[in-house]
Amino acid sequence: MKRVVFYLAIAIFFMGCASTPKEPKAKYVFLFIGDGMGLAQIQAAELYKAAVNEQTDKGGEKLNFSKFPVQGLVTTHSANNSITCSSAAGTAISTGVKTKNGIVSLDVDSVKVETIAENIKKQGYKVGILSSVAIDHATPAVFYAHHKSRSAYYEISTQLADNKFDYFGGGGFHYPTGKKNNKKNAFEMAKEAGYTIVNSKEAFGLLANGAEKVFAMNPELYPQGEFYWSIDKKEGALSLADFTRKGIELLTNEKGFFMMVEGGKIDWAGHGNDAASNIHETLAFEEAIAEALDFYKQHPDETLIIVTADHETGGLGIGNNAGTKHLDLSVLAYQKISSQEFERKLIGLKTAEKKTTFKELMEMVSADFGLNNGEVKMQITQEQERWLKQAYEKEFNGKEVVDPDRDYMAYSSEKNFTERVVYLLDQKAGLGWTTTNHTGIPVPIKTIGAGQSFFGGMFDNTDISKKIKLAMGI
Ligand SMILES: [Zn+2]
Repeated sequence: MKRVVFYLAIAIFFMGCASTPKEPKAKYVFLFIGDGMGLAQIQAAELYKAAVNEQTDKGGEKLNFSKFPVQGLVTTHSANNSITCSSAAGTAISTGVKTKNGIVSLDVDSVKVETIAENIKKQGYKVGILSSVAIDHATPAVFYAHHKSRSAYYEISTQLADNKFDYFGGGGFHYPTGKKNNKKNAFEMAKEAGYTIVNSKEAFGLLANGAEKVFAMNPELYPQGEFYWSIDKKEGALSLADFTRKGIELLTNEKGFFMMVEGGKIDWAGHGNDAASNIHETLAFEEAIAEALDFYKQHPDETLIIVTADHETGGLGIGNNAGTKHLDLSVLAYQKISSQEFERKLIGLKTAEKKTTFKELMEMVSADFGLNNGEVKMQITQEQERWLKQAYEKEFNGKEVVDPDRDYMAYSSEKNFTERVVYLLDQKAGLGWTTTNHTGIPVPIKTIGAGQSFFGGMFDNTDISKKIKLAMGI
């Protein structure tokens, strides 16, 4: 009898194990990619938040995704370089395959590889691709297009409609009619493929739940299709959070959805070594994540939110050797304008009839960046002033021309006037940059929701799409 009871107990134990609920399957998946957002970029935003909110916690004020329960690290090297570019990293994330820098969702032998978004769409889920930069830029492109060159913006834009994804949101096209302006308009091609193209606030507001094949652009974009800078608070512009909220409205359905949201200009501010603009982009990205978190709270057992980066940009360091013994990110609150918009202001002055003196220029610097504003800590040295004057002479009295709208990858260590101003301000904050390009350091991944447990520890960027499939049970 004793033996029977024993076996019965064992049987009940195993039955109990078998009926233990498994981890719930993710039905609604958000993949947030902060382009160029390494640990230091997140930490800088947190320290800045604490500083401006006058909090004394030296650890900073945590961003919403820093509080996610599962945290990990992701290696980012490409097939041919320890330092990846966005297209190779994006390809690894979206297809699970390593490729060479510059390639969009083809493998090293130029063979097309299916992306996670294409796979999920085929299985009946709705798909949304969102970015704060042009939608034919590397990170959004790797989810819907395949090309040997990320710079082939036009060819990439013509592939937008190929997979019949349900929602594209945020930026526009870089070259809708090709570099030479002589090709069939890519917006027209999207329209012919059945897409509704929306680029006003009013039409955006009217987009109704369940609307299909929508390409919604920010009504305020730079000519090459990207958002204005968050720090500049462009009037009439929509935010990445607005596009994320709209995405939730449009994509929610019984089967589920996959939404990729890129904070693309974190990277650009990293290339420009502009800390305040970088932080404001990270904070705008956090607001977009807050929309997903609201949705998660309504569907906690079916929603998965992943926040990661494709690589780090700028080699941002929290601490520098400029004599600053401690960090003071509050000084960055004096910066009221992005480097790009300040350079645009200077273009106007350089071409004006009345010459701007160095003294007048420094008054502008004081108003827009806080340097020499009368506060002791904002004072710059005579040597630093000479360094600024040297750039002023070159640009205002010499032949050096600065293009404020130059490609974000065209920054160099030879700094122009504006870059020198921002450099001095960042030094006062206690921050430092090692490069105007990407770095090879691993990036964080932060996860909450159904399937979160797959995302802890350290793994490679090629594992991300595999883990998403595991979490979704597909
Ligand atoms: Zn970049």
